[in-house]
Amino acid sequence: MRVDLAGLCGTDYSIWTGARAVAYPRVMGHEFVGRVQGAGRDVRSVRLGDRVVVEPNYSCGRCPLCREGNRNLCFQRTTIGIDVDGAFAELARVPERCCWAVPAKVADDDALLAEPLAVVTRAVKRGAPRAGETAAVVGAGTLGLLALQVLTAAGARVLVVSRTSRRFAMAKALGAADTHAVSAGSLDGAAQQFSGREGVDLVIETAGSAMAVQHALSLVRPGGRVVLTGLPHEPTPVAFFSVVRREVTITGSMIYQDEFGEALRLLESGAVRGEPLVTHRFDLDAIGEAFDAHHDPASIKVAVAPGKSS
Ligand SMILES: [Zn+2]
Ligand SMILES: [Zn+2]
Repeated sequence: MRVDLAGLCGTDYSIWTGARAVAYPRVMGHEFVGRVQGAGRDVRSVRLGDRVVVEPNYSCGRCPLCREGNRNLCFQRTTIGIDVDGAFAELARVPERCCWAVPAKVADDDALLAEPLAVVTRAVKRGAPRAGETAAVVGAGTLGLLALQVLTAAGARVLVVSRTSRRFAMAKALGAADTHAVSAGSLDGAAQQFSGREGVDLVIETAGSAMAVQHALSLVRPGGRVVLTGLPHEPTPVAFFSVVRREVTITGSMIYQDEFGEALRLLESGAVRGEPLVTHRFDLDAIGEAFDAHHDPASIKVAVAPGKSS
């Protein structure tokens, strides 16, 4: 496929800096939208010229995990842009089963967010929000601002919690009922005030730090649910006494199983907007600047547009 737009994320940044090793040489990039430029003889589901967005993870299909439907947990999972070459290129070669037709109503800038949106669609689904419940999102980056919208679409009232207030105007514009900066004081107090009771019913953690896990546990009410989507690599101290005493349900959520189609439907209906999150755009030749922009706290989603440089 010809890559029209590819997004950068934290995973790409860690490969770029060398913090995360991959087999070299490797073309990175796993969040992308483009057009089918050529197809193998047996390809049936996409045709030349189709606009597609790529689901970049595929599993072995044979192990017990895959056979029971847990393909996101497969030990032999392959990620395009990490294990095989990806999207920071003019052309990318991807398996047919990874291609999703982009509905005509969905702009490239919205479709670009389909992959992280599928991640939070699963996380929110695992948290099982009910209409009228209160929820908090920890983190106001790409995942947090998407989780906010998925929760709102499910009928929850959402409090966005972040280290700084930088993204709060955007969070409000995207549907947050309220916002709270961690530096502004007690999280349990903020959650109590927001919910009108002992804390919020559901917390979706998207920041991926040990601190964020603690914040999530401070926000949730007794009997409430916490879904963790970030991957804190450092040891994370948790007061399990309080988890037991308050019967908090903690659930992990790993990428997505069958949520890609749902993510596209959320974009198509307009319930979720991706385009406001795309703050920067560079030609492929300027990818170094794109990574600098990704590192800048003022950016949200940085995109490269390989189609433009050819
Ligand atoms: Zn990513
Ligand atoms: Zn498998």
